[in-house]
Amino acid sequence: MKKILIVEDEIAISDLLKIQLQARGYKCEVASDGEIASNYIENNQYDLILLDIMLPKIDGYELINYIKQIEGTPTIFLTAKSQVKDKVVGLNEGADDYITKPFEIDELVARIEAVLRRYNKGSDIQVIDDVSINFVARTVKKGDKYISLTPKEFDLLILLVQNKNFALYRETIFEKVWGEDLEFETRTLDLHIQRLRKKLDWKDKIKTVYRIGYMLEIDG
Ligand code: CA
Repeated sequence: MKKILIVEDEIAISDLLKIQLQARGYKCEVASDGEIASNYIENNQYDLILLDIMLPKIDGYELINYIKQIEGTPTIFLTAKSQVKDKVVGLNEGADDYITKPFEIDELVARIEAVLRRYNKGSDIQVIDDVSINFVARTVKKGDKYISLTPKEFDLLILLVQNKNFALYRETIFEKVWGEDLEFETRTLDLHIQRLRKKLDWKDKIKTVYRIGYMLEIDG
């Protein structure tokens, strides 16, 4: 069952969303302010997050950075209809889609499904051009050939794929792949990136982002 976090401070809206989404087979949790939301996100795995922008304590713009940087969870902004310019900002900030309030529940569900499909949630396999990655079997194929990756190279690949088109800080990547206990070593990370680029022939796809770190750039 797919799990959705609803971040919304208007109880009338969050109740409606919860009831309607649960009726369609989603498991839902509600966070009524930004602080609760960040705690939930830190301690749980969600398939998708519905994120209001105007929130007590931590607003949606701040939260989206946290979500994308730390978890890479698909996110849809819920925005007030009057804040049209927010849409543009919202998408620039890394939301996968937005919907204006008030909304039709069917339209929201269609957008949720589209975003989940794009992220390939529920599928064990993600295909990027001629590379197919099986998250469960932990195998990678390029064309017909299996590519042999070390466990760390595979973890690194998954992290890049889950955060595609989003620049990740070197420190964040290191912490996620090598763990918080190890001291950050840029050389170790850079070597793994080089090997991944070479093995997958992804020299153009895995970009070095100046002063930040790395980003997997994928069209469409
Ligand atoms: Ca609000």
